[in-house]
Amino acid sequence: MVDGIWRDGGGQARAVLDPATGRPFAWVRDGDADDVEDAVAGAARALGAWRGCEPGERARVLYGAAERLEARRLEVARALTLEQGKPVLDSVKEVDFSARVLRYYADMANAPRRERRNGGAGVQSAVVRQAVGVCALIAPNNYPVELLVWKLAPALSAGCTVVVKPAEETPLSGAAVVACLREAGAPPGVVQYLPGPGEVVGEALVAHPLVRRVAVTGSTATGKRILAQAAGTLKRVSLELGGQTPLIVFADADLGAAVPQAVRRTYSNMGQVCIGVNRMLVDRRVYAEVLERFVDRAASLSLGPGLKPGVAYGPLVSEEVRSHVRAHVEDARARGAVVHLGGGVPGDLPGGFFYSPTVLADVPAGARVLREESFGPVVAFVPFDTPEEAVALANDTPYGLAAYVYTNDPGLARYAAKGLEVGGVGVNLNDVTELDAPFGGWKESGIGRELGPEAFWSYTEMKHVRWVPASWPFDPS
Ligand code: NAD
Repeated sequence: MVDGIWRDGGGQARAVLDPATGRPFAWVRDGDADDVEDAVAGAARALGAWRGCEPGERARVLYGAAERLEARRLEVARALTLEQGKPVLDSVKEVDFSARVLRYYADMANAPRRERRNGGAGVQSAVVRQAVGVCALIAPNNYPVELLVWKLAPALSAGCTVVVKPAEETPLSGAAVVACLREAGAPPGVVQYLPGPGEVVGEALVAHPLVRRVAVTGSTATGKRILAQAAGTLKRVSLELGGQTPLIVFADADLGAAVPQAVRRTYSNMGQVCIGVNRMLVDRRVYAEVLERFVDRAASLSLGPGLKPGVAYGPLVSEEVRSHVRAHVEDARARGAVVHLGGGVPGDLPGGFFYSPTVLADVPAGARVLREESFGPVVAFVPFDTPEEAVALANDTPYGLAAYVYTNDPGLARYAAKGLEVGGVGVNLNDVTELDAPFGGWKESGIGRELGPEAFWSYTEMKHVRWVPASWPFDPS
């Protein structure tokens, strides 16, 4: 979509594959460098009016888009499942949460943007916040609706205009969000939508001098490339990148709660979750019991095509992701890890990109599953003897996105929550995502935050205005 009109991109036609079969079910024409030029120019033209309009007008568009998204939830969820693979009930949840995110940031449109400061003798002083400008929003393939809306909603509410680039595998469901915004009254140019390869459309957006801010969710390798490219024009950048998430089980934990929650957080969306569990760090005194219970539960998960009733776990999104998972499992096996469950393609699902829920134990230090992001249905069990060792093991990766701790001892909970070098800690729960709280990573898991008021302000620039009071009123915001 450029200037409010859907058109064929100038790039190649791309097949959109159904990960449950591996077969194409739709074709999308990618954007090219000319489309990027048009889209950025259109967004730049639309910026003044959108940034300058009444905040209530921007809120009205976001509320309207939320309503439309909810009204079309099944249609959008179906498209999401077809292109990404997750079970349709999970897709519905993703769409519904995205509507909530749109409303949350609609509510923020009117947030006060001026803060008085001490001006000194005979001078007044204020800090005001203005929309940063045209933004490039680059989305991943694991939550193509939600993680797009985490960027879109605060950017539009703050007064920015945007060019959206979805992931190659998942161009359809994000387009539905953009259609909802258009139908809700987003003026032409405010939201542009350009599917296409990262190296073509993504890089051209990141390098473009009229783009002032880039928001990306993707792998750490992608984030590093984008940060380097963005340096040329010193863009404001936020990066939501990979994770290597530990779940620590202390000996006193309620295993009846910890194990099922750990299983869900390991295999939900087939492990293609940046905050999915990669490592189970378990007190040696309960290690065997936790491993046995975990394997029992994981063995009973029902895999299948995401549109089939009763299916709770789908395929991986692509053959590329499956090959990466396979390489991690083979690496661990070659180093002597024991495969307690899975470790290959399920026999009853030979088509598509399925991979069995996999549990590895006795994984030697140095194995890729302990240090890199597998981004698949694989977990590695590691025992520990002391809380110090648990926290040290948890922190022993270049990543720092999330960690979970299960214990009933307030001292242990506090010790771990303080010591973990991550952007989000869950204590006796398996999620750190919350609409009203910042989400993001330490270390190589990223820069900046999404969600919460923090995301809204990240789409603004500060301006300090000093003035000599006069007989006329003056409001610099
Ligand atoms: P990816 O890195 O392959 O691609 C992400 C996006 O970046 C895509 O739209 C891609 O086309 C684009 N891109 C790639 N190279 C680019 C370049 N040089 N310039 C501009 N754009 C470029 O990631 P993916 O496979 O779609 O998503 C999975 C990854 O995302 C995982 O590593 C996961 O951990 C991460 N992720 C992080 C979070 C978080 O909040 N921290 C959330 C979800 C996913």
